Amino acid sequence: MAVGWNERRKGMSGRGGRPWRRKREAVLQRDRYLCQPCQIKGRATPATEVDHIKPVSEGGTDSMFNLVSVCRPCHQAKTQAESVRAKS
Ligand SMILES: [Zn+2]
Repeated sequence: MAVGWNERRKGMSGRGGRPWRRKREAVLQRDRYLCQPCQIKGRATPATEVDHIKPVSEGGTDSMFNLVSVCRPCHQAKTQAESVRAKS
């Protein structure tokens, strides 16, 4: 049983798996399909993606508590900021 978990952890970059898709759906449902960063700014933007609050590369987990619904522009902005941080 632990083997399966380890394999899943190793394949983190591949998000096409069914477990991820189900979790993604659960996060979107929890957040009512609204982009959370946009909502904080007072905008109601439909979320199309799910993002890690704390990046996996920085020790973040795949837990529901570390996942948040985001729209594409927010996701791209965050991903870009993270890659800049990783390079420096
Ligand atoms: Zn957004």
